[in-house]
Amino acid sequence: MKRESAGLVETKCHPIPEEIALEHGGRLAPATVAYETYGKLNRELSNAILICHALSGDAHAAGWHKGEEKPGWWDIIIGPGKALDTDNFFVICSNVLGGCKGTTGPSSLNPKTGKPYGLDFPFITVKDMVDVQKRLLDHLGIDKLFAVIGGSFGGMQVLQWCVSYPKMVRLAVPIATSAYSSPQQIAFNEVGRRAITSDPDWDNGNYYGRFPPTPPARGLSLARMIGHITYLSDESMHQKFGRRLQGKTEFGFDLASPDFQVESYLSYHGDAFVKRFDANSYLYITKAIDYFDLTKNGTLSLAEAFKGTSTKFLVISISSDWLYPPYQCKEIAEALSANDIDVRHCTIRSNYGHDAFLLESGQMNYTIQNFLSRRSVGDVMIKDVVTIRQGSSVEEAAMIMMTEGVTHLPVTDADGKLAGIVTAWDVSKAVALKLTLLEEIMTRNVVISAQEDPVEQAAKRMNEHNISALPVVDANHWVIGMITSDGVSRLVSVCR
Ligand code: SAM
Repeated sequence: MKRESAGLVETKCHPIPEEIALEHGGRLAPATVAYETYGKLNRELSNAILICHALSGDAHAAGWHKGEEKPGWWDIIIGPGKALDTDNFFVICSNVLGGCKGTTGPSSLNPKTGKPYGLDFPFITVKDMVDVQKRLLDHLGIDKLFAVIGGSFGGMQVLQWCVSYPKMVRLAVPIATSAYSSPQQIAFNEVGRRAITSDPDWDNGNYYGRFPPTPPARGLSLARMIGHITYLSDESMHQKFGRRLQGKTEFGFDLASPDFQVESYLSYHGDAFVKRFDANSYLYITKAIDYFDLTKNGTLSLAEAFKGTSTKFLVISISSDWLYPPYQCKEIAEALSANDIDVRHCTIRSNYGHDAFLLESGQMNYTIQNFLSRRSVGDVMIKDVVTIRQGSSVEEAAMIMMTEGVTHLPVTDADGKLAGIVTAWDVSKAVALKLTLLEEIMTRNVVISAQEDPVEQAAKRMNEHNISALPVVDANHWVIGMITSDGVSRLVSVCR
């Protein structure tokens, strides 16, 4: 299928006049959330997907801003024909609380002073950021998300969504992330923060409003350079730069200009970052990342942290990611499994390191598209199932089939558990052989399905046994539904 662009887009703003009570006690009012949307919200309000951005991201996830040369930061998977197909889904992305791309943060005006907040901005957490996103969804009239998806710090927001608003999220895709920041992640964040706060231009966060502007450019660019190294991998750096020299054929034996391409690349990107990011936002957001811990400082197990969510998960890790190594995603998947939550964990094979979720277009589209289009038996089964009690007569079974218009009747025992099945075919056999008791004609060895089974698996089972319906049973063996080959065919035709 052809993959296209979401087209020309604009960032919109949603004002939040009411006071926001923050997780750690502070209060904030008023606030603004900057956001973009792609695609159309359907009449049932059931096709919304929320994208959560990483540390240096913003609301511009896809499509093009007029006059700009680059599309949004996750254009590889958002747009017509892509995994987040904007012909089918309504995709939303907002800038996080504490950010500097339109959502209220330390560079916004403090209504009490009429000046930018600077360090008067309250400390915020990932939970506060998710609460602000929830207010945006309320404004958009969305009370259930088809999916919430994000990588890195965006993945932390995804996990927080499933903990804070478990009933609101149908599918979740946390990517290259962790349920709590590791000491190594905190350490890198702290080095970045120290680079900023050691820059004399930072001036305790009071660098706004100077003319000409003198933000702590050296510190912020250094923080970005350090961060950037952690987003790559040893192998990708070998491939991208090798030991190639920058604009020279011999070592300079001086400190005036870079020798190696990698030095020049990092400084270019460090400097570019200063033009688009606020140093105080960097401090506040990295602090929120460090504080993130779903185990609440080890007072809960991760499995306990996820209790109560019924969301289905696809957890994606990246083989060469050493900043958020795959073991952290594995831990998330194991904690979810311990709660009997439907979870798949897959690892993208890539040499790109942490940044692979922004670069591996083919694997990301394939993996996420498969997950979003997957339906489980519980999604398509008939829920009002007519059953018949063991010990009934063939005549009673025939009567129920006729009045209820069904051809398959699960037979239940005195405890309500599945004991067998009779079909219209069995009833005609009874007529031919003059049998009157259900016991004489019912099939005892019933082929069944569970509601979390993928639809394809149920369809395969029906095919193998040449039958057209499977009772769906729960852990107690009680019949909770019925999946039929007609239902599966209808689903296939809808999906095409
Ligand atoms: N036309 C049938 C249908 O629609 O399922 C398939 C023909 S098969 C020979 C009929 C036999 O399959 C019947 O004896 C019936 O009891 C049995 N059967 C139907 N559904 C079943 C299930 N889910 N598990 C086991 N046996 C089943």
